[in-house]
Amino acid sequence: MNPITLAHKIRLSPTYKQAKYFQQACGIARFTWNWALAEWKRQYEAGKKPTALSLKKQFNAIKPIEFPWMYKVTKYASQQPFIFLQKAFKGFFDKKAKYPQFKKKGIHDSFYIGNDHIKIEASSVHIPKLGWVKIEEPLRFKGKVISATVSHVADKWFISLNVELDQAPQTCESQTSIGVDLGIRRLATLSNGERFEGPKPLKKQLGKLKRLQRQLSRKQKGSNNRNKARMKVARLHYRISCIRQDTLHKLTSYLSINFAAIAIEDLNVKGMLSNHLLARSIADMGFYEFRRQLEYKAQMRGNYIKIVDRWFPSSKQCSRCKVINDSLTLNDRIFKCNNCGLEIDRELNAAINLESTVSSTGFQACGEKGAGSKRKVLSETGLNEAGTKPCTDLYTF
Ligand SMILES: [Zn+2]
Repeated sequence: MNPITLAHKIRLSPTYKQAKYFQQACGIARFTWNWALAEWKRQYEAGKKPTALSLKKQFNAIKPIEFPWMYKVTKYASQQPFIFLQKAFKGFFDKKAKYPQFKKKGIHDSFYIGNDHIKIEASSVHIPKLGWVKIEEPLRFKGKVISATVSHVADKWFISLNVELDQAPQTCESQTSIGVDLGIRRLATLSNGERFEGPKPLKKQLGKLKRLQRQLSRKQKGSNNRNKARMKVARLHYRISCIRQDTLHKLTSYLSINFAAIAIEDLNVKGMLSNHLLARSIADMGFYEFRRQLEYKAQMRGNYIKIVDRWFPSSKQCSRCKVINDSLTLNDRIFKCNNCGLEIDRELNAAINLESTVSSTGFQACGEKGAGSKRKVLSETGLNEAGTKPCTDLYTF
């Protein structure tokens, strides 16, 4: 089995001097990326075929003379951007990503450190050419640190450590399946009747955010007060994202610990986001983030995730007699079946329909045979090779 890789993002407590180093390293990483991208474009337009390796060689040849200040920080700050750029172009050529963009100061500032240069202890992490920096919590996973990324969010510094786990995490012991209906009014409704109300952090704090943004717009450009106001807005955004992450982690952990098979709808979030009325609530609920978390936790714990085609009539079908009710509108909160007379909460009806897509695959039957048969049946039907793929992700809850 391939080892599982997880990332733990930990807040750093740098001294003033250490924070200066971080800023410098971020600046060098950004400069290098922008240099490499500009050079790539120039060579490409001249009919050449640039590669990360050729650009890196070229860069390293001029570095001692033109950019001697780069040697003050970890070499990775001025080496890794070439590898990232290569990946970015690969994504672009494979039509999976947009054309790489130049980086701007203050937006996603970060730099990478390779595993040969990173050491970690209970309360501090060793950064090359800097020394030990305090961390706010110990590393959660036991295993080999394979890389790290230092990043700046609002006025805080974080280090995200990628760890190759020594042991696979505990697998899901349950044999039951569940359907999960994600909603705008309610975060999630489970087919067993459980409900998770979303905190809708953005909505709650929107008033505050608007006020802060108004204050910001009144401040003079380049002034100290403007910088302070900008930081206030960034801090609020950060707080909102923490609340959202926390809620989603609680839900996805609960699901992956308690249910062996989980059916969710393949929401066309992109299409829905273009509808402005719905856009904010959906973004707020973080559907993408929900699925991302659920998928990596499922890889860890061996759950089977069924992504139900978005054309499946989960809302319009009666969960008891399976007859479609075409007269159901978006405003109907209760599903009423004209055929069998069932009256049920709209989301619950949808969740039960989603759940039926996993129980109908024979999953339920194999569960009854006891723990041993679960994996076997699942792989026989080609549903899931549980836990065999490494996954890299934030795992912060
Ligand atoms: Zn019915």
